[in-house]
Amino acid sequence: MTELDSLPTIPCNECRAGIMQPRHITYFTWLGSELIMVPHFPSWVCDLCGRREYDEKAIQWLNMLLSPNTGNPTTSKRRTPPPPRPQTGARRPISKS
Ligand SMILES: [Zn+2]
Repeated sequence: MTELDSLPTIPCNECRAGIMQPRHITYFTWLGSELIMVPHFPSWVCDLCGRREYDEKAIQWLNMLLSPNTGNPTTSKRRTPPPPRPQTGARRPISKS
């Protein structure tokens, strides 16, 4: 009897030869124009081709955290986005050598 037999192994959908190994990676996602970094994010990485899959529950959890509409059925509050900054006082680069 080995412990490995009791562990669920997930075959890779990409190469169909590798095994998806549980790993903790740093997950990057975009929230609007902001880059969100989530360290120690649970994921599965193929030991053969390196394909990554993310834990579905973790993704749902993350989406719930990042979604501004969580818990608010249909109250559509209009959030006015900050206006784009006009480039005032754009200095001309002085290229003198
Ligand atoms: Zn693979």
